[in-house]
Amino acid sequence: MAAEVVVVGSCMTDLVSLTTRLPRAGETILGQKFFIGFGGKGANQCVQSARLGAKTSLICKVGKDSFGNDYVENLKKNGISTAFVGQTADAATGTASIIVDSEGQNVIVIVPGANLLLNSEDLKKASDVICKAKVVVCQLEITPAVSLEVLKMARANGVKTLFNPAPALADLDPQFYTHSDIFCCNETEAEILTGIPVGNLEDAGKVGRMLLERGCKLVIVTLGAEGCMMISVEEPIPKHVPAGKVRAMDTTGAGDSFVGALAFYLAYYPRLPMEEMVRNSNYVASVSVQAAGTQSSYPYRKDLPQNLF
Ligand code: ADP
Repeated sequence: MAAEVVVVGSCMTDLVSLTTRLPRAGETILGQKFFIGFGGKGANQCVQSARLGAKTSLICKVGKDSFGNDYVENLKKNGISTAFVGQTADAATGTASIIVDSEGQNVIVIVPGANLLLNSEDLKKASDVICKAKVVVCQLEITPAVSLEVLKMARANGVKTLFNPAPALADLDPQFYTHSDIFCCNETEAEILTGIPVGNLEDAGKVGRMLLERGCKLVIVTLGAEGCMMISVEEPIPKHVPAGKVRAMDTTGAGDSFVGALAFYLAYYPRLPMEEMVRNSNYVASVSVQAAGTQSSYPYRKDLPQNLF
């Protein structure tokens, strides 16, 4: 069965140590707790979409190692097709080594590893699934040229493209804008892309308009607890879509929960007004911030109000 939501992107294993303070250069300290989490923007977005009930396929590359094997299992447990999850012996599975101190400060080292080996050949093998999707989603944790190729393939076949320019590149190829039906970024990414800091709703409207003028059809700037700002070619006046007030516990991965939810709505409720899709996606992401972790905080359809479906 064809997947309705196809995500082409990254898988990262998070290796998290909790300590009372961050170590100095050359120092060895004892930590209090260690855990392994599943992360990477591509996989996160795909997992959120799948948990809402989307038929999904993730196109990615992990290492031929224990982290890679565990990641494949994790995707399967989430009901995601792993037909195009490659395992390579030429690099390790992507990792994020994270140290968090008791104040919540952190230091992070990301080694993309196998993610950067996903290439055009892999896309060719998966072209059928990409071209038959309802929505294709990409980010920038794989080689940017590969993401752009995916957007082009999707566009040429009438598949809706949802692009999340994260992590942001100041010199993003302008073709990313012209090949994005929906361009969805957070405040930090918007600032890197436009040079304008987003301090309030007015700034968010201004950067949204600038990004729209670069050639996408619709721009969404997510604003944390404030929800998001959207602006489109059809409605070129910035519109604020607030998120509900919740008690946030851990906002890690909220943006990916939002993007994954939006992909679900675009694929399964294409006739829903865009503002409603965005409001529902705010809701899903606001549930994710009320629990700890990244994928571990993403809600399942059964745990959400049924009026969202
Ligand atoms: P990122 O995780 O990329 O930094 P944001 O912080 O903008 O992205 O969050 C993405 C979405 O998650 C927001 O648009 C909103 O829907 C939801 N969200 C994030 N933080 C909160 C919060 N404190 N309360 C309610 N919703 C939130």
